[in-house]
Amino acid sequence: MKNYITQDPWNIVEEGFHRDFNEITESVMSLGNGRLGGRGSFEEKFTGKTLQGNYVAGVYYPDKTRVGWWKNGYPEYFAKVLNAANWIGIDIDIEYESLDLNQCEVRDFRRVLNMQEGYLERSFVAVLKSGKELQVNAKRFCSIIDDEAGAIRYAIKPLNFDAKITITPYINGDIRNRDANYDETFWDEVRKETGYGEAYIELRTRKTGFHVATGMCVEIEQDGVKVDYQSQPIKYEKYVANRITLDCRKGQETVIYKYAVNLSSLNYDPDIIIKDAHQCIQRITRKGFDKMLFEQKQAWADKWKTNDIIIEGDIAAQQGIRFNIFQLNQTYTGEDERLNIGPKGFTGEKYGGSTYWDTEAYCLPFYLATADQKVAKNLLVYRYKQLGKAIENAQKLGFRAGAALYPMVTMNGEECHNEWEITFEEIHRNGAIAYAIYDYVRYTGDEHYLVEYGLEVLIAISRFWSQRVNWSKDKEHYVMLGVTGPNEYENNVNNNWYTNYIAAWTLRYTSEAVAKVKALDADKYAELIDRIHFREEKELSTARQIIEKMYLPKDDEKGVFLQQEGFLDKDLMPVSDIPKGQRPINQNWSWDRILRSCFIKQADVLQGLYFFEDEFDTDTLRRNFDFYEPMTVHESSLSPCVHSIQASKLGMKEKAYDMYLRTARLDLDDYNNDTEDGCHITSMAGTWLAVVKGFGGLRIETGNGADPRVVLNPYCPDNWQSLAFKIRFRGALLQVTTTQQDVTVQNFSENPITISLLGKDVTVTNQKTVSVKNKA
Ligand code: BGC
Repeated sequence: MKNYITQDPWNIVEEGFHRDFNEITESVMSLGNGRLGGRGSFEEKFTGKTLQGNYVAGVYYPDKTRVGWWKNGYPEYFAKVLNAANWIGIDIDIEYESLDLNQCEVRDFRRVLNMQEGYLERSFVAVLKSGKELQVNAKRFCSIIDDEAGAIRYAIKPLNFDAKITITPYINGDIRNRDANYDETFWDEVRKETGYGEAYIELRTRKTGFHVATGMCVEIEQDGVKVDYQSQPIKYEKYVANRITLDCRKGQETVIYKYAVNLSSLNYDPDIIIKDAHQCIQRITRKGFDKMLFEQKQAWADKWKTNDIIIEGDIAAQQGIRFNIFQLNQTYTGEDERLNIGPKGFTGEKYGGSTYWDTEAYCLPFYLATADQKVAKNLLVYRYKQLGKAIENAQKLGFRAGAALYPMVTMNGEECHNEWEITFEEIHRNGAIAYAIYDYVRYTGDEHYLVEYGLEVLIAISRFWSQRVNWSKDKEHYVMLGVTGPNEYENNVNNNWYTNYIAAWTLRYTSEAVAKVKALDADKYAELIDRIHFREEKELSTARQIIEKMYLPKDDEKGVFLQQEGFLDKDLMPVSDIPKGQRPINQNWSWDRILRSCFIKQADVLQGLYFFEDEFDTDTLRRNFDFYEPMTVHESSLSPCVHSIQASKLGMKEKAYDMYLRTARLDLDDYNNDTEDGCHITSMAGTWLAVVKGFGGLRIETGNGADPRVVLNPYCPDNWQSLAFKIRFRGALLQVTTTQQDVTVQNFSENPITISLLGKDVTVTNQKTVSVKNKA
């Protein structure tokens, strides 16, 4: 765990240059706008530890897998999120010396990610070997208004010398992924152009054939006045630049504005993509840095209006939650239904591929409650559009009749995870995709989604479950063999309780959805079942039998569900018995030892009790929590949040708070020693869940035929003065503020809403506030 990031409510601050942690800082200070983004690296040359990373959403490379490709049914590639052209680069040379913070003394260094306004700023004084002192102030952002553009203001000031300074803004497309299985390069050059202060390069990805055109335009000011400069174009293979030499006086500020765009063939015709890049560059250059930044600040202010969570009395917690919310918004905006939320977003390359079950299980509730309904809907439509590939994927494995197995990892709907125990066996992901449909419909009331898209997906997933189980004569139950549950520290197990439960639940929900769609639109239903050959009576009756007779392992004496059959044969011991210095176990133990141990990577049974909490009483939750929590090592970033929510529900405030901090500051404090690879973006939604569903006690109550409604049972952790969060629900925008004494709900919308608040029914009319005393 590291502790060098200064605690601040709105900023991520690095005071003084922490050279050895530079790759960690680059990850946490990443910028993005849903369409492009990159790590918080330096604009100028840096020969120290760095991972220059710039990414363009949806652009990937099918890297040949290193293992398993010879097994039938195995995916041939693992899609890599591509490190793309570096558009931020500006080299600075002062006579014969280069500015390189690895080669000079650095004074007054400060790097700040301003989350309130959405930009990265860095200032320092470099003392070169010759004794020349240069002050630098750099500011950059990825615009959320012009979401294919980024802009940089890079100001230099000689403090003790006059000199000719050479400034070389460039685009470098000669980029390698650090995460590449065979060390190949993934980009080919198509064309490049340079003009006065401008440069363009078009690159194409190997195999997938995506074109990305990156363009830049440079303007320079001295003493606040725009200057005409001489620029020398430079072109190498996959590299374009303009070299500009200026006389700079002691104390005089020279400001370089670099405007850049990245257009991809996902949105532009490759034949004219460079021309489009020209136009885009001209438009943003005309707009200018100040206006772009002004718009950026406004756009972020708007986002924070519905997204912010305010914690009084605990800066570490406050900074943590805002950081998580900020990064989630930088990663996914919901504008484009072809995009999704990669576990590392725009902050790194690891976990290539973009979409995991993380999206449905963790991220969806965040976007449901904080963004326009269409954002969450787009996440679902993404999977709907990939249904055909999920059916093909199941066919490859021998399933029939329209059964679908969604991939564990994907870019375009094809499976591309490269470990068989995950690809073939971690099939619970299918359940999360079904659950997300339920979650969306329950939250938004958009039942029509089932008619248009949802039911078709549910039927296909249910068909998979019906074929994946088999009847055990011995047990007289349906069983599911050879699976990996959410806890990936167990592979190839039989009857994982979570997987069996979610499979049976999916079958149940599909039957309900059939009835719903029939009632809502009989014609559309008839058209659908005809198209997909759904034999209603037969398929639903098989489903009923499976639901009734699904094997759900449990131990009556202990009163717990068994993570899988045989779990109790393990040498059960708490995590506290792991010898000092051997954690995380995945970095210290052999895989074999991990598999045989009782230690749990991430919530598994407890994940199921979280999803389906209405189906279990609190005592059941307590017994399972007491049993599994001590054995959980939380070596997946997705784990502490679920435990935090469950601990809140059980009134275990300290545990809930510990788990919250662990998820909220996972990357800021580098808990798992891996932030240098990138941030854990999807688990950031888990942090939000830990606050809103954990401390905030938000639930959506369904049942009794009544309309679903908001239930809130909030509390304030002991060391906080107050906690305030906002949620959207069916046209209402509510702010819930809880102190140690009372809870206040304010309705910012025109729609009155009746909710259950600390067990009481209250109606909050528009623009009004209701307060209820805390039970405690
Ligand atoms: C977790 C998975 C998760 C993946 C991507 C793994 O470590 O075990 O549940 O989907 O990371 O976040």
